[in-house]
This record gives sequence, C-alpha cells and structure tokens, in this order.
Amino acid sequence: MTKYRIGMYPGTFDPITNGHIDIVKRGLRLVDKLIIGVATNPSKNPMFSLEERVEMVERELRPLAKGIGVDFEVKQFDELLMHFAEKVEASVIIRGLRAVADFEYEFQMTGMNYQINPDIETVFLMADPRYQTIASKLVKEVAIYGGEISPFVPATIAKEVKKKVSQR
Ligand code: ADP
Repeated sequence: MTKYRIGMYPGTFDPITNGHIDIVKRGLRLVDKLIIGVATNPSKNPMFSLEERVEMVERELRPLAKGIGVDFEVKQFDELLMHFAEKVEASVIIRGLRAVADFEYEFQMTGMNYQINPDIETVFLMADPRYQTIASKLVKEVAIYGGEISPFVPATIAKEVKKKVSQR
C-alpha cells in the first residue's frame, strides 16, 4: 500500500493572496492531505486577527481541495514549525518561492529545520509568473494608500481588506 502523504503549508496569510492560492493548487497535486498552518505571528503585527485569517483561508481554499478530492484542514499554530509539522504528522512542508529575496531566509530556515527533523522534507513551489510578485505586505500597503488590490486577492478578500483600512 502506498503511504498516505500529509503536506503542511505554513504562513501568516495576512491576508491570503492569489500567490498563496496558486501555491496551494500546486501543492494539492502532491499530497493526500493538505494542512494549512496559520501562524500566530504577533511579531509581524498582523492586520487581521488569527481567527479572521483562519476563516479566510478556510473559505478560499477548502473548495479547491474538495474539487480534487484531497483531504484538507486549516490549523493555527504558535510553536516551532517543525514541532507543529511533527504533531500533525506531515512528511512534507510546502513553501512558495518568489524572487531571490525569499531565497536567503528559506535557505537558512530549511537548513535548520532539516537538523531538527531530517525525516520531514521541505519542497519549494513557484507560482505562475502572473502571481509571483504578489506579497501580503504590499497588498496591505497598496490598500492603505487607496490603490486597487483586486488583481492580487480574491474579490471577497479585497472587500475585507478595504473594510479594515477604512476602520483604521
Ligand atoms: P510567512 O510569514 O511564512 O512568510 P506568508 O503568508 O507571507 O507567511 O507566506 C507563506 C508562504 O507562501 C511562504 O513560503 C511564501 O514564500 C509563500 N508565498 C507568498 N506569496 C507568494 C507568491 N506570490 N508566490 C509564491 N509564493 C508565495
């Protein structure tokens, strides 16, 4: 019998963007179950609460997993990434790779994670070129300065970002 492969895609998702969604679509082809790990990350001072981020991720991604029959779960975490991966029995950690800027950080993190647990493999996926430059941080900046963010996030997310900005 082939192994039931569990993948975990961690991130802050503040908010989820078309870049994240593209990575998830690719990741879903590689695993039997995908767990999205939404990091608490208070140090990043998120625009959206943990509950809001979990809810947005759940809403945008569950239909994709359902559509291709892959098991799916969204979980929050506030611990070492590798400990969380072990706890959810993931054998693969999925990360997205954008430009050179991502490489340095990911390189270090993967190297250290490998020493913590060499049985868990990190795989890097690249988004479609149309989405490669999208970053949650920039989406928020564009929105704060009144720019149009609809090319970068799903319509429902754009609405929620605009609402947050107007409440500031
Ligand atoms: P983190 O705080 O872990 O960087 P993010 O939510 O910013 O959380 O990103 C989660 C993962 O998704 C990271 O691996 C990041 O590189 C990847 N990612 C984000 N945006 C894109 C994109 N536009 N294309 C490819 N990967 C992306």
